[in-house]
This record gives sequence, C-alpha cells and structure tokens, in this order.
Amino acid sequence: MSSIDDFREVRRRVMRRCVYALNTLAMRDGRLPRDGAFDAAAANGLAAIVAYDESGQEYEDSGNRVRSPLALLSVMCSGGSITGGTPSSSVLSALEEGIKKAQEFRHGRAEEDWDVLRENHVNALIALDEHPALQVLELVDGMDFEDAASTVFAQEAMDLLPLNLKDRLMVPEPAECDACWRMTLIADGFDAFGINVGEGICIACGTERTYEDTVRDYLSWRFGDPS
Ligand SMILES: [Zn+2]
Repeated sequence: MSSIDDFREVRRRVMRRCVYALNTLAMRDGRLPRDGAFDAAAANGLAAIVAYDESGQEYEDSGNRVRSPLALLSVMCSGGSITGGTPSSSVLSALEEGIKKAQEFRHGRAEEDWDVLRENHVNALIALDEHPALQVLELVDGMDFEDAASTVFAQEAMDLLPLNLKDRLMVPEPAECDACWRMTLIADGFDAFGINVGEGICIACGTERTYEDTVRDYLSWRFGDPS
C-alpha cells in the first residue's frame, strides 16, 4: 500500500491551485484588498507552474524553501519551454510589476496610494490559469475554501487513475473517505466482497482503509447497521 508521503506533492499541488484560484477570484470580484491576495496568488500559481514544467526548481538551491514569487517568475521565463506556450510579454511584465508593488504593501513600504494594483495586474494572474498546472478558476468559482479543496482533491484523485482504459477497469474509481468525506480514497483494487471499495489510502487526509474496514462495511451493507 502507498503511504501518505507518496501523495505529498499532490497535496501541495492542491493547496497551490486553491490558494492561487481563491485569491485571484476574490481580487477579480473585488472581495479582497489586492495587495496580500496578489502576493499569495502569484506565489502559489507560479510555484505550481514551475513544479509542473521543471520539477524541483520551485525550491531554493539550499533546501526545501519555495522560491520567492519574483524568483519563480524568472525560473519560469529562463527555463526550457513553458507548457502551453509562454505568456505574452505584457502579461509577464504586469506580473513582475504586480509582485513588486504587492511586496511594498507586505513590507509596509507603500505610501498614500493604496490602489496600486490594478485590473491589468489581476488579469495577468488570470492569464496564468491557461497553464495545465492550474486550470482551476472555472472549477472553483463561487466556492468557499473547503469546497474548493474537496473539488480539486477529487479531480487530482481521478487524475491518479491509469490512463490506459484497460488498466483503468482494474482499479476502482476514487471513493469517499470515511474520515474527511472527500472523494479521495484511492483503493489498491476491488474488495473481496463486491462492495466496490477495497483497501487503500486517502490522498487528502492520509487515513488508511484497512481490510477490517472493508469487512465492517460489507457486514453493515449485508445485514444492516448493528446500532
Ligand atoms: Zn480523507
């Protein structure tokens, strides 16, 4: 059986996609001041893109600290090819300017004009969503954080299924986890009793489903809940 550590990158990807999306949507809809939200959206969106195209380069050379948004932007632009194509130069320069302006707020250096982050900066963040590492704005539009995380987790769980249709028929679809109620339980195979959920692990919360759990669910399905 896999361990929850095997899914660490999946969990990081889910969090990055959610933080990028919810902050970007909140700015687009005028629900949050743009300064802190811009920094969080840029940091997470760019980390997801760099991790996708150049896995490992999202971290600083010295360890597992994620690079700053500006450093991520420069890794993204100076690396090999960007999947789906390089964003236009106006998007890239709006991103760079937006990150610098957002940081003035974060470090308390902003002066009188609070509205230094404008629509073009937010639109540059929205443009990043075309990259396959993100593609999340439409998916979670209108959701709160918990629903967005559940939705993105469920999508990532489906993506873990084998691509080949024949292989796909050999494994169950992701099922609901008993602990966190997300559709993120990845089973190793079908169960021996025909209830269609075997033993496995939840990629979101790490709860393991054991053989005893399968037996319990089979008995309650077959004979009713003893309580
Ligand atoms: Zn779970």
